[in-house]
Amino acid sequence: MVKKRSDSIYADANFGPVQKSNLSLKNRSNLKCNIIVDKSLCTLCKTCVLVCPENTIKESKKQITIDKKFCKMCLICLEECPRKAIKQI
Ligand code: SF4
Ligand code: SF4
Repeated sequence: MVKKRSDSIYADANFGPVQKSNLSLKNRSNLKCNIIVDKSLCTLCKTCVLVCPENTIKESKKQITIDKKFCKMCLICLEECPRKAIKQI
């Protein structure tokens, strides 16, 4: 069965990044958020805004901002950005 793109988002959300890092979601919540948006690549498509499970990414005044206080470092935004504009530093 061919999965729709939206299915893969949530499959990755539950298993992909966590398995790769070998950390549980609980442990990842202790990680400091170290992601940034490269404004030169961002097209303001808002995919990241839609996929963030913590609702920490906002678009305002033609700028993407991440509220790092609530970011759980799931890295879904990083994986789903079509422009690869979200990066870890
Ligand atoms: S998904 Fe990527 S290109 Fe789209 S708004 Fe977010 S950072 Fe910008
Ligand atoms: S890493 Fe996860 S929680 Fe943090 S901003 Fe991206 S999608 Fe949201």
